[in-house]
Amino acid sequence: MNLNKLNLNTLKLTNPYLSLPTECYDRVLPSPLVDAHLIHANASVAKMLEIDESEFETQTFVDFVNGAYQPMGSDTFAMCYAGHQFGYFVPRLGDGRAINIGTLNGLHLQLKGAGETKYSRSGDGRAVLRSSIREYLMSEAMHGLGIETTRALALIGSNHKVYRQTWETGAIVLRVSPSWVRFGTFEYFAHKKRYSELEALADYAIAESYPHLMDEPHKYLLFFTEVVGKTARLMADWQSVGFAHGVMNTDNMSIHGLTIDYGPYAFLDAYDFGYICNHTDQGGRYSFGNQPNVGEWNLQALMVALSPLVNSDKLEKVLAQYPQLYTQRYLYLMGKKLGLEQVTQEKDLDLFTHLLGMLQGLTIDYTLFFRTLSHYEGDRKDLLNIGLYHKPMNDWLDSYDERLKANTISTEERLVSMRKHNPKYVLKNYMLQEAIDLAEKGDFSIVNDLFTIAQNPYAEHKAFERWAGVTPNAFKNQKLSCSS
Ligand code: AMP
Ligand code: MG
Repeated sequence: MNLNKLNLNTLKLTNPYLSLPTECYDRVLPSPLVDAHLIHANASVAKMLEIDESEFETQTFVDFVNGAYQPMGSDTFAMCYAGHQFGYFVPRLGDGRAINIGTLNGLHLQLKGAGETKYSRSGDGRAVLRSSIREYLMSEAMHGLGIETTRALALIGSNHKVYRQTWETGAIVLRVSPSWVRFGTFEYFAHKKRYSELEALADYAIAESYPHLMDEPHKYLLFFTEVVGKTARLMADWQSVGFAHGVMNTDNMSIHGLTIDYGPYAFLDAYDFGYICNHTDQGGRYSFGNQPNVGEWNLQALMVALSPLVNSDKLEKVLAQYPQLYTQRYLYLMGKKLGLEQVTQEKDLDLFTHLLGMLQGLTIDYTLFFRTLSHYEGDRKDLLNIGLYHKPMNDWLDSYDERLKANTISTEERLVSMRKHNPKYVLKNYMLQEAIDLAEKGDFSIVNDLFTIAQNPYAEHKAFERWAGVTPNAFKNQKLSCSS
């Protein structure tokens, strides 16, 4: 055992959220799962928490993730929030199946699937194995891609029966985040006209996520400015990598600018701007291409919630910067993907839109295209092989060749850089489904393999080459159900 690290008997949790007014949360004990067993634990998150990895082997660790063992200082509770779901305001949501157990090293620990809370409404407070595997793996994959996200320390399965159209088994993800405050947390108090709680929450969120603003005279306006910037950045990050969240309700939007609450998300297979990954999203509100707009819409909802604290005209001026902030970040990222040294909107927007139109028209695999382009030195064979028709690809490559002439770095430098910005692997839904199908039979080998890929998506991983190709036709651009 490493004496510098904590074991579960010695670690001490704190509970900063409980310093907020009592309307912000409800104290509740976790309800452990029957016959729980460890499926996977994340050594890099253990390191952040300074928890000794040897703890993973112990029954106490399983009990800890199962909510059956509470470390010192743990005072468990569910958070209260509201939210706009598919555009409609729901005045009370809250952690219906996530139970907060305390804070360690600035990370708030939460058990997702640990039973009912005051906010469960008609739900059972549980999460099934398949959706827990999806959250566990994808939060690590987003981190591996360099995108802001919550993370997870461990995943446990069980023999606990949970009904979702059929009998399944319950699981728990112990997830961690520097903040669990959502846009909807503010909406809850604004809607109730509970302005002193609203102010306390804003002060809390500033101290937690933007401590440099604590003593600023216009701290609430600056707070909103930060959230607008973080959200614009996150949306551009999602678009550049081809990630569709699927349920961008305001209760799933993080004040800290993190990807949170993984549900029916998807990575693009073939590039499709209009792709809808969520089966229940009939109107395509949360389609891939609409995400940046929804980010702005959600910020408007946050702006309204903050308006009792700050002059609305000032908030609106801040929000008006969103499109430009988004565009700047998106252009920067696309420039990196294409290996361009300097990107300007005037010069490069046409090149990017031409490219996306070509990918869409030829239904080309988004990830595979950019990774193949990261080896492009003039020989077009591999790129032409990805699409059925050659002319649109040749036309775009002509423009790209022309544009590359403005680079001063060598081709080798360009390609090395591109391979750091274009992942070889993303966790597509068909891959996750294979992992889940096997896991449901008690074999977690693909979960382990995908975790390895997730942590290092830019590396070659020769043993996993089969995950780097085109998605099999039967599984391309499917929709997922929300049921989880
Ligand atoms: P989501 O869109 O998955 O983030 O969930 C929306 C709301 O429903 C949140 O308040 C969740 O806590 C709640 N919820 C989702 N599934 C369940 C469940 N099985 N039991 C209780 N509450 C749930
Ligand atoms: Mg949620």
